[in-house]
Amino acid sequence: MSKVTEMFGSLVFNEEVMRQRLSGACYQGWKTCIAEGKPLTLEIANEIANAMKDWAIEKGATHYTHWFQPMTGVTAEKHDSFITPIENGKVMMQFSGKELVRGEPDASSFPSGGLRATFEARGYTAWDPTAFAFIKDGSLCIPTVFCSYGGHALDKKTPLLRSMDELSRQAVRIMRLFGDEGVKRVMPQVGPEQEYFLIDKSVYEQREDLILTGRTLFGAKPPKGQELDDHYFGSIKPRIAAYMADLDEELWKLGVLAKTKHNEVAPAQHELAPIYTDANTACDHNQLTMEVMKKVAERHGMVCLLHEKPFAGVNGSGKHNNWSISTDTGLNLFKPGSTPSQNARFLLFLAAFIKGVDEYQEMLRCTVAIPGNDHRLGAQEAPPAIISIFLGDELEAVVESIIKGTEYVDQGKRKLDIGVAALPRISQDNTDRNRTSPLAFTGNKFEFRMLGSSQSISGPNIALNTIMAEELSQFADVLEKADDFNEALSSLIKETFTAHQRIIFNGNGYEDAWVQEAEKRGLANLTCTADALKTYLLPQNVELFVKHGVYTKEEFTARSETHFENYCKVISIEANTMVDMVKRDIYPAVCAFMSEVAGTITSKKAALADIDCSVEEKLLRELSSLSKELMVQCAALEEAIAKVPEGTLAEEAHYYKYTVFATMEKVRAAADALEVITSAEFWPYPSYAEILFSIK
Ligand code: ADP
Ligand code: MG
Repeated sequence: MSKVTEMFGSLVFNEEVMRQRLSGACYQGWKTCIAEGKPLTLEIANEIANAMKDWAIEKGATHYTHWFQPMTGVTAEKHDSFITPIENGKVMMQFSGKELVRGEPDASSFPSGGLRATFEARGYTAWDPTAFAFIKDGSLCIPTVFCSYGGHALDKKTPLLRSMDELSRQAVRIMRLFGDEGVKRVMPQVGPEQEYFLIDKSVYEQREDLILTGRTLFGAKPPKGQELDDHYFGSIKPRIAAYMADLDEELWKLGVLAKTKHNEVAPAQHELAPIYTDANTACDHNQLTMEVMKKVAERHGMVCLLHEKPFAGVNGSGKHNNWSISTDTGLNLFKPGSTPSQNARFLLFLAAFIKGVDEYQEMLRCTVAIPGNDHRLGAQEAPPAIISIFLGDELEAVVESIIKGTEYVDQGKRKLDIGVAALPRISQDNTDRNRTSPLAFTGNKFEFRMLGSSQSISGPNIALNTIMAEELSQFADVLEKADDFNEALSSLIKETFTAHQRIIFNGNGYEDAWVQEAEKRGLANLTCTADALKTYLLPQNVELFVKHGVYTKEEFTARSETHFENYCKVISIEANTMVDMVKRDIYPAVCAFMSEVAGTITSKKAALADIDCSVEEKLLRELSSLSKELMVQCAALEEAIAKVPEGTLAEEAHYYKYTVFATMEKVRAAADALEVITSAEFWPYPSYAEILFSIK
């Protein structure tokens, strides 16, 4: 279909457009800057800026914005028009190299975790010339990094780019050891699968909780949920199909490789997966995808919910971060090869990954520690909060035979000598069946499945890249000094597998037995955000990022603070919303219904003095006692919010989890019990069934 091919990337100032619109010298200059990671000269920047502006105006744009990713995890933009006044009260459209390369948003209101006191509010943004500009809503968007004047990274892109550079540097060292002189750059590749819910706008608008917090704070279990599993991969309803088609088009225009779409397990839940690209582009594109999903839903009279757990008792939404590393010469370093030397390389990268995940379990757990994810991780539908790696039967047998020095039994019954023998063929089918593992090897990549649907994928990828860089640098240090490379390699792989075997788990992660087993193995089980974040600043984590230049100590500390602050704020907003809903909607509704029931009793008795009113009386008593419980817990919640103790951020988060959130659960229990005995006519909100089945 030529239409799609024409549409694809039509709103992106990509390499092809640059080749066409820039002078040969300028285009080459830009390419060299990227290849060598050098800043652009003003001359080149000016020419690019002018070409970008002309192209954008042809496409109907009037404004430009430096598009960046502050620590909030969403994107930010501040729009300036291209107009510049000239004589006679007229204007011309102008955009200079300076404006392209650097912008200065007043950044005082973005979280900085203490990196930038508000009186020195200004930060600057700088174009990331490895990411293409694009047009969104009439504005030319320039992907940028965001820093404070002190030079601290205030965003999620800068550390991601740094981590990619570092991973590349260390992986290239390893490639040289294997005699590969051609590889110049190694890039992490990422394909994030995005889950989301779609509901009708009319039901959304009646729910204060959805509007203010993105999730339902109340709601009794519906008579029909996902029991029948009839939604998963089910046929797509026409209204949803129209949405998905529209979404694909919008994403394609922006150059996003939207590929797969299907219904998910829960009613109203769907998934979109793109084709993987380099981590930086994947991260930009995932941010755009989330934004476009919401916008397109609006056009279709629907609302797209990206929260990790919009509905209790119904599957939540996650994001599977498929991650691999590949060379600029097209080799996937997690792909088991067909020759002994390729396999030795594969096993070395595998060993680095296993060691890294084992050593930095807590850090990886922290990268997915966001309040919404607390409702998923460890619950029955999502991976447990314990980090482990699933390798599949074949690869696990390989690892075991290496550790034990025993024969690996395949058709040939041979012993596996690293660097000498070839690995058995690892079939892809066999690796993809364990859906309960947080980190699964799926043939030629690792799938990190703990991410929440709403979160930026940047944090987890920064961690994966840096951890891998660290392990590869340790390996390179050893191997570069070795007299006999093959021998050193074999023992390094064997030692590493032996020392870190505990992180490998092929069983069912949803079983309670795994929790006990993991404890025996000494693996961390950080069940909630408040507990996980306490490990953020472990000395080994600080050392890791500082050593590789991904974060300064200050930058890293700032991230920790931002995460804690965000957690406390989210719980606080949810708690306040709950109180508001109880006092202004739920309790008054139940009171009205109680007088209706009381009225029934009175009028029945007035009509027939000896009539049986036991049903109504029982109901009235139940309503009365539950509403009392509701108001008692609501008062307790109000008090809990009012009395947040002074202390460290970790203590505050702990309080929000174990006091505020714990009380919220009690408020909710009373309200949900009331919902099922209160007349639907009186209940102030659409029920779960009405919301989940709102798209006909
Ligand atoms: P599943 O749902 O079975 O996990 P999908 O096809 O829905 O599979 O999603 C797989 C994701 O992994 C896609 O985004 C795909 O592009 C991505 N992917 C495939 N190969 C790689 C790779 N080598 N590195 C990174 N991501 C990959
Ligand atoms: Mg998957």
